[in-house]
Amino acid sequence: MIDSHCHLNLPPLNVDLDEVISSAKQNGITRILLPGITVSSWAVQKEICQRYCDQLPIDLALGLHPYFLAKTRLSQLNSSNDEIHQLEQAIDDPTYAVKAVGETGLDAVIDVPLEIQKDVLDKHLAIASNAKLPVILHHRKSHHLLFEALKKRRFKYGGVVHGFSGSIDVAKRYINMGFSLGIGGTITYQRARKTRDTVAYLLKHQLDSVLLETDAPDMPMWGRQGQCNKPEYLVDVVNVLCRLGDCSAQHIISATTNNYTRLFLG
Ligand SMILES: [Zn+2]
Repeated sequence: MIDSHCHLNLPPLNVDLDEVISSAKQNGITRILLPGITVSSWAVQKEICQRYCDQLPIDLALGLHPYFLAKTRLSQLNSSNDEIHQLEQAIDDPTYAVKAVGETGLDAVIDVPLEIQKDVLDKHLAIASNAKLPVILHHRKSHHLLFEALKKRRFKYGGVVHGFSGSIDVAKRYINMGFSLGIGGTITYQRARKTRDTVAYLLKHQLDSVLLETDAPDMPMWGRQGQCNKPEYLVDVVNVLCRLGDCSAQHIISATTNNYTRLFLG
């Protein structure tokens, strides 16, 4: 079972990583993708990946998460080019063995102006195109804007729309643009009716575009609200998928593992 999106470097998950990793392993996690958030996170990510490489393979993506743009950019637009330049260099640096560019994306709910987010996203797409790498996309109330950005750049290396929620139509549009959909804790909530319907459709017709993720330490699973989310809870997502798709856990795990391998390790 692969957790395709887990921020191992963020608190409170990073307080006792030995425990998080060993318990993930005991609970059937075979691999984790650790997405990038800020320039200063990248070295920490690499260190985590090296520290645990004997226990659990951890893949790295590097990028500038929209949440953290406020601190680094709002007041100083010029620094954006600086950070993008550093991203370009890090993506080329073989010691990172980068598997994807991200996390990047658009969030219409946070305080960072969308114009800045769009500019930074476009630069991530350009870097990913040059490096022929997939991207990890964050969305919140921004599907239409993401479609625009991908079209404008004619981005063709695919990736994953992580923490996916949305309609069947939206899911199909991403899939047609070469993207997979990262399914996480959202679907453990009964109120996520639309996304649950979409996921049931995907399990039946587009299982080859589905990835599993926790987005830990965020996005707590239903029944675990108020606790730190952890990769070992990925099994909660798998259990809901089994019910929605009327299929076995093994079926879900083997398909999503193949999908991950094709997208990030192929
Ligand atoms: Zn994330």
